[in-house]
Amino acid sequence: MVNEGQQYEVIIIGGGPAGATAAIYTARAGLKTLVLDKGLTAGALGITSKIANYPGLNAEVSGAQLLENMRAQARSFGAEFITDKVIGVNLLAEQKSVYGNNGTYTGKAVIIATGSMGRGNRIKGEDELLGRGVSYCATCDAAFFRGQDVIVAGNSDEAIEEALFLTRFVNRVHFLCPTPELKAPQPLIDEISANPKVQLYKGAALKEVIGTGKVQAVRFTQRGLPEQELAVSGAFIYLQGGKPITDFLVGQLKLNDGGCLLVDEEYQTSIPGVFAVGDILCNHIKQAVVAAADGAIAGMAAEKTLRGRKQMTVDWSK
Ligand SMILES: Cc1cc2nc3c(=O)[nH]c(=O)nc-3n(C[C@H](O)[C@H](O)[C@H](O)COP(=O)(O)OP(=O)(O)OC[C@H]3O[C@@H](n4cnc5c(N)ncnc54)[C@H](O)[C@@H]3O)c2cc1C
Repeated sequence: MVNEGQQYEVIIIGGGPAGATAAIYTARAGLKTLVLDKGLTAGALGITSKIANYPGLNAEVSGAQLLENMRAQARSFGAEFITDKVIGVNLLAEQKSVYGNNGTYTGKAVIIATGSMGRGNRIKGEDELLGRGVSYCATCDAAFFRGQDVIVAGNSDEAIEEALFLTRFVNRVHFLCPTPELKAPQPLIDEISANPKVQLYKGAALKEVIGTGKVQAVRFTQRGLPEQELAVSGAFIYLQGGKPITDFLVGQLKLNDGGCLLVDEEYQTSIPGVFAVGDILCNHIKQAVVAAADGAIAGMAAEKTLRGRKQMTVDWSK
């Protein structure tokens, strides 16, 4: 377990523009800040090839580069970043716990900034075979597939990292990438392309996970080819969609009738000390600059709450 026993003042879940900006503000205010993020290209800004409308940029840059710059700025003020996928939380206690695949983290305030690239529809067979060969966590489950064949479906750096981890255990990883090209930092693409245990299928859409009681095969289509079936015993799924990522909250925060997280004007949720910012909010205008602005407000509001202030303090006034 990483960071066991470490206590933070602020834990930020999601290191996109909303979360990274919140971290700039909380870390610069001297609060011990942790950002948990599952992967640079697992969020909306990270997959964006060119950004031309972010204020202050003189030329087009990739979303991933802009995000790296934001994260570096937050780190320069003392924020810590850990790559981990958050799978649960306990927000009700005074010390809030955040559960990741690799560890448990505790903090006094939590800022949720996981964006809206969550999946809506499941693949046929996925729900029935979850825990019986279908998995969302290679770190947790790879050892169960020692010497066997598995698929990984996805195209983010999260999916690639998980596939590379699996190669330490399994016989072969069939990597089904839904887009014509992988979207991840080049060194990761090079590493997976060169790995002899990985077979890459570009433009491959997973259609069904097949099995009785356990995964036995998957069915997928690939551009220009007849439908294919692969005999595998594991299906690790990291596909992305367009829904707010709230599954790890397991009903702890109030939602409105439309299923959207309720927040006040400072982005505080129904639990004091817990904030939500960026694309995860339903009425949010999906732009990086808007997500960053939300993060700045929530970062200052978290500082106000933790220090018992009545008003937010802008940091040029310190
Ligand atoms: C294709 C595309 C093009 C775009 N073009 C532009 C543009 O040109 N200009 C512009 O201003 N905006 C653009 N946008 C919109 C902009 O990218 C988003 O509005 C913005 O990124 C939202 O920021 P966010 O921080 O809320 O979410 P995201 O950027 O999605 O970041 C969320 C972060 O949370 C992490 N995360 C999610 N779940 C978990 C979990 N369970 N555990 C740990 N970490 C998790 C992800 O890894 C990710 O890093 C574009 C979006 C897309 C999809």
